[in-house]
Amino acid sequence: MRNYPWLQAHQQRLALALDSGRLGHAPLLSGPPGLGKRELAEWLLARILCLAEPGQAPCGQCRACELRSSGTHPDLFRVGIPEEKSEIPVDSVRDLIASLQLTPSIGHRRLGLIEPAESMNRNAANALLKTLEEPAANAWLILVSHRPERLPATIRSRCQQLTVRPPEPPEADAWLASQYSKHPPAERSRALSLAAGAPLAAAELLDGDGMHLGRQVLDAMLAVASGAPVSSATSAQWQSDPVRTWTWLACWTAAFMRQAHGLDSDALPAGLQLPVALPGSRLAGHWEQALQGRRLAERALRHDLLLGKWLLEWGQSFQSGP
Ligand SMILES: [Zn+2]
Repeated sequence: MRNYPWLQAHQQRLALALDSGRLGHAPLLSGPPGLGKRELAEWLLARILCLAEPGQAPCGQCRACELRSSGTHPDLFRVGIPEEKSEIPVDSVRDLIASLQLTPSIGHRRLGLIEPAESMNRNAANALLKTLEEPAANAWLILVSHRPERLPATIRSRCQQLTVRPPEPPEADAWLASQYSKHPPAERSRALSLAAGAPLAAAELLDGDGMHLGRQVLDAMLAVASGAPVSSATSAQWQSDPVRTWTWLACWTAAFMRQAHGLDSDALPAGLQLPVALPGSRLAGHWEQALQGRRLAERALRHDLLLGKWLLEWGQSFQSGP
């Protein structure tokens, strides 16, 4: 994996636990998005499956590493949100449980990955619970969660929780500066602030002409909030960069939420206010919808109509008042 300074201590601890036989059978990597938890999970599962002598990194050359990187390792089972679904259904978890009970075919370990774990529906979580209580021998299950508070407490308490937190601002800033040296420092610091301190989320906002798209999205949100028709506010770039458009909608809405709660709002241009001060709870609804739109766009599902619908509902919130 790439070198993320804020994850190094986690990698060292995980490697030590694995090599000394103390790594629990169900590590739960949790924390806000944009910190590299998925890559940390990929690194850990590669480390668990690798057949070479233990080292800090997986060797990348053994049969297990080759099969894993080509996506065909027979002892690795991944569970995510299936296409055309909005949650992880019980069938996916049952298939995973069955896979973990088979005899390993390459090395002596079997492994499952669930991401995002908070998207398991109730039946799926219940099915998983039994496996967490009675884990199969030599089987590991890695869970990745961006919103662990949405996982049942019974699941969380049976996992070994590893919480990834945003690095201190100077560390995050130094890393961003090393990657985005051409961007003015003020833009980097705004991106970091909008991303709630998560460096990879800030990087996504800065990439290419991301900040330009961000300003367009903010202008559209303000125009529609002031009564402009939705059709006049959107641009062609939104359709060509839908994931980031949704990201920006979510980021700006989150910044307005922080402002509504009287928290730091240096993510927003100085003095910027919404035409009507909506309560944080109302803004939170729009924020959830934007995150949902992003998840659909990531999986290339139909979201073009949803973008218009989101803005329409955003505008309606301001017409109907707080
Ligand atoms: Zn290897």
